[in-house]
Amino acid sequence: MSPFIFDPETPVRGRLAPSPTGHLHLGNAWSFLLCWLAVRSAGGRLVLRMEDIDPERSRRHFAEEIMRDLSWLGLDWDEGPDLGGPYAPYTQGERLERYAQVIETLTGLGRTYPCYCTRKELKTMASAPHLEDVGPVYPGTCLGLGAVDRKAREDQGRRPSLRLHGGGETRFDDLLHGEVRLDWEACGGDFPLRRSDGVVAYQLAVAVDDMDQAINLVVRGADILPCTPRQIFLLRLLHAPVPRYAHVPLLLDHAGVRLAKRHQSLELRALREKGVSPKAIVGYLGNLAGLLPENAAVTPAELVSEFAWGKIPRDPVTVRGDVEAVLRLV
Ligand code: GLU
Ligand code: ZN
Repeated sequence: MSPFIFDPETPVRGRLAPSPTGHLHLGNAWSFLLCWLAVRSAGGRLVLRMEDIDPERSRRHFAEEIMRDLSWLGLDWDEGPDLGGPYAPYTQGERLERYAQVIETLTGLGRTYPCYCTRKELKTMASAPHLEDVGPVYPGTCLGLGAVDRKAREDQGRRPSLRLHGGGETRFDDLLHGEVRLDWEACGGDFPLRRSDGVVAYQLAVAVDDMDQAINLVVRGADILPCTPRQIFLLRLLHAPVPRYAHVPLLLDHAGVRLAKRHQSLELRALREKGVSPKAIVGYLGNLAGLLPENAAVTPAELVSEFAWGKIPRDPVTVRGDVEAVLRLV
C-alpha cells in the first residue's frame, strides 16, 4: 500500500457523522476516536455532522446526548450544529432542499428512474449473503418501464421510489485496506436516492454533504465499506472530488458480534454512571488500536503523536473479558 502523504497545501477536513438514533457505545467511541486522531494528527479540521436523515429512528435528544458524550470523551470539533461554520447547516434534516436540488440534477443527467417495486417484492430478490448492510441486489426491474407501464402502476396507487442507475467497477485506495475494487452489483445494484415516502437516502445525503462540506478524509466503520462505491459514483456524476477513505475495523464482543446498541452496558453514559473515566476508555481503545503498549488513562490529545495508520489493525478487533471491570482498573 502506498503511504498517504497529505498535501500540505490542502488542509485535511474530516467529519464525525453520528446518526442520532441511539446513545453512543464503545464501538462508536472507537471509530470516532480513530477519525479524530487521523484528522488531528494531520493538523486538519473536524466537522460534526448530525445524520438525522431517517425520520423514524432519529431523535433530537439523542443528538444532544451524542454531543455531550463526545465532549466527555475529549473529542472536539471545529464546525458543527452547535458551533456553526462556513458550510452550515450541519444537520441533515436542515438540508432537505439541497438534496432535492441534487436529485433534480441527477435526473437531468438521465441517471434516475422511478421504481414501483414493493418492499415485499424486493425482499424476495436474490441477496448477496455477505453484504447485509447493502441489502438485496436490485435486478433493475423498473429500469426499462415505459410511460404506459409507469402510468398503470401509478393508477394502482403505487408511489415510486427514485433509483440511481449506475454500473461498472469502482476502485479506490483505502488507507487501511489498500486497493479496493467492487462491482456495482456487489454493492447492491441501482439504489434508491429517495424512498417512496419522500425520505432521502443516506447514500445521497452523505455524498452531497461530503461534497458541500469539502470533506477530503472519511474515516468510518468497515460496515460502511460496501456503500462506498455508491457514494463515489454519485460524487463522480456531480464532478466532485472523491475523498480519501479509511474503513476502520469493527469492534466485536467475545461471541464475534459487533458492538452496537444492544450492548447497553457498553454505552458511554452507562460507563460514566458506573464511575468509569473518559481517559480510561480512550486509553483502552488506544491500546486496542495499537497506539499504546498497555491500558493507561490518557486523553485523545495525548494520543495524537502516537497515531499512524500503519499501527491500526485491519481485521475486526475482539473485545475480551469484562470490559467494564477492566476500564475501572485503569
Ligand atoms: N451516520 C452513519 C452512521 O452512524 C455514518 C456515515 C458515514 O460515516 O459515512 O452509521
Ligand atoms: Zn423496481
